[in-house]
Order: sequence, then C-alpha cells, then structure tokens
Amino acid sequence: MFYRFILLCLGWLALAAPSRATNTVAVELTVHPATHSFSCRYTLTARSAAGLEQLALNLDKHLTVAKMRGPHLRAATARPFFDTFQQDTLRRLDLRFSRLRPQQTVTIEYGGPLPARFYTDSLLEFTPFANWLPTLPNREYELVTYRLRVRVPPTYQVVSTHAPRRHRAGYYEFAGTAPNIEITALAARRFTVLTSPPGPGAAVSIYKANRPANTLDSVLLDQARRIIRYHNRIIGGRDSIGQFTFLLPGTNRNAGGLLDNAAVVTYSDFDPRKPGELLILAHEISHKWWGYGTWNTYDNWLNEGFATYSGLLYLQAAGDTASFRRGLAQRRARAAGAPPIIGFDLRTSDYATLRRVEYDKATIVLHELHQRLGDAAFFRLLTATAAARIETTAAFLNLVEQQAGRPTREWLVRQLST
Ligand SMILES: [Zn+2]
Repeated sequence: MFYRFILLCLGWLALAAPSRATNTVAVELTVHPATHSFSCRYTLTARSAAGLEQLALNLDKHLTVAKMRGPHLRAATARPFFDTFQQDTLRRLDLRFSRLRPQQTVTIEYGGPLPARFYTDSLLEFTPFANWLPTLPNREYELVTYRLRVRVPPTYQVVSTHAPRRHRAGYYEFAGTAPNIEITALAARRFTVLTSPPGPGAAVSIYKANRPANTLDSVLLDQARRIIRYHNRIIGGRDSIGQFTFLLPGTNRNAGGLLDNAAVVTYSDFDPRKPGELLILAHEISHKWWGYGTWNTYDNWLNEGFATYSGLLYLQAAGDTASFRRGLAQRRARAAGAPPIIGFDLRTSDYATLRRVEYDKATIVLHELHQRLGDAAFFRLLTATAAARIETTAAFLNLVEQQAGRPTREWLVRQLST
C-alpha cells in the first residue's frame, strides 16, 4: 500500500494464524516532541477458539520495554532475533500464560525515540511506516478493534484516519477497526484542513501539518474526488468510499494507502497533474479495497496487482490513453521471464523479482483477463472481489468461476502458473 517508489506495502513471512477471532487493542500513546520520542502502553486481548497459552510479539529493536504484565501472564522475555526474511534484527517478546484460555490479555509498556525519517521540528508521525506498535508475527495486517488515546503537550494537535471520538487540550481519543499496524496518529503544532465542497461524491479531507495550503493541495483534493468517483463505480459498487482522509506530515519519504479510507502522502511537492503521481494516487486510494490478500505469501498479488491495474485504469478513464499504454508496456517488459505467480516464494526472492511478479506480471494477467471478459463483466468481477474481501488466490479463482465460468478459471490458472 505505499509510494512514489511504490514499495512492498504488505510484506513479510508466513505462519499460520491460529484463529480469525478479532483481537482488541488499546493504545495509550504519550508524545514527547522536545525529544522526538514517545512512550506507549499497549494492551492486547488476543482471541483463539483453540485457546492460547503463549504469544509472541515483534517490536522495533530501537524501542525499550519497561514492563509486561497480564492477569494470567506467567513469564515474559524480550530478546533480539535475526529475521531471515526481513534480513534485520527484531526484538521478539515471548509471553507465556498460566494455562490455556480462549483469550489472553497482556499490557506492554515501552517507548523510545522515533527514527529521524518520522519527525520534523514540530511534527511526529505514528504511521505504519514508523513501525511503532508491537505486532503478532505475520499477522501485522490482521484487523483489530482498537481504541487509541493520545496525550500531547497542549500546544500540539493530533489527527488520525478519522475524527476523534473526544478531545480536549492535550488529549485525543480515537476508535475503530483497522489492521493492527495501521493504527495511526500525527501530532503537530497545527494542521491546515482542506475539505471538498459539499455536493455529490465522496467527502475528502486533507490534514497538512504546520504549513499553509497551496495549489498542489487543491489539485490533490480535486483529483482524489475524481479517482474515488471512478473507483466507486468500477470497484466499490457494494462497498463504496463515502469519505476519505489524506494525512500530509511533510516528512518527505513516501506515500501509502490505508484500509481505513485514508492515505499518508509525505511528499511536500506531490503533484497529481503528473501522470506518474496520478497513478500513485489512484493506486493508493484503491488499497481501500485491495488490502485483504494474504500479504506474506504470493497472494499479495491480490493487493499489488489489483492496485496497480486499478491505477492504470484510472489514467485511461481520465483520457490519458498514452500513459495507460506506456504503463502497460513497461510492466509487460518487466514481467517477461518472471517466475509464475502461483507458488512464488517471497522468502527466497529478492525484492526486484518480487516486484516483477506481484506488481508487473499480476497487472498484465489482470489486463488480459479484462480483455477476455470485456468491461462490464470485468468490473462486476472487481466489485464482487472487493465486496468479498478476497484473501487468497484460491478464493479468487472460485469467484472467477462463479462469475465467468469454468473455462475462464482454467485459463486464469494457466496465466498464473506460467
Ligand atoms: Zn500498493
């Protein structure tokens, strides 16, 4: 979901999740702007029908754990470990409980400095990029029900992907459902707020930290509304975007779409009048629908291939057929000779190959499926895929068979397997 260099948004490796029961998270974040640091009390209630007697959590190695506690916690340790997939050392928290229970609650108190990429003089960025939350390994993008309370000096304001439930000077409270890793807060001395004019179409808001609005912000607002109108028509017919939030921290790093009808755009010169940046914008907005594919397996093509093709379709719909064709040709060239999508092993691949498979090749396969089905049937399929929140290639193939018949399923399996 993220980028000018559209990065691997949904990333790493795979372990079976023991249960799909929704976990609950309470985050108490205290922001210390003077030292560009924070402290956090993170309470996780994890649920599993099979029962839980132990839990492992990953935390950024630069953060310090002060305390781990829970009503049935018997032992807790924190240790560094080298993750072969991320090729980095992480901090692993191992928690053992007194006995097997269908749910376990643990509170972790930790904190430390934010890396320099995530703050400016008067802005601190707590987004998925900043990696500031503990996460269940390989379940970082699993939906959780959360409550986020943020304390800041009274001279600071806080915004998130949607409006706070309550706030007063120095205190903000948000709640919702989102992937654990996407629980988000920006703290700044002030935010310039732009909102789309009333009328038909999605309500789009921009929160820009510490700077006045300029022409590019108006362009962003206008282009985002146009993209959302189009995407709602071809993808969102059964799950449309009614409101959308842009967070502009000004940290000049990347851009990324979030599942919760929001995107973070860090560039201070992001200009969607340029085709390449318009493509990024349309890609990121579409991640509102394309974020359920199992991200740590080859099923991630359901996120990145679909988002890339959705972005290209918007360029064409906006009348820029030349950029659409050029974008397809570039991806077709990069996809040539790439490994098959089905069975592609992220763990043993370098990032460039992953991009060729999950972004480029996946985009070409979708384009060919589009050509085979025609606009009406292909857009119906996109709409059904988004509404069903399809997670796996197998589930997508079943949907294709339902919508387009067995021969198209078999044709698609061949495209994904060669
Ligand atoms: Zn993406």
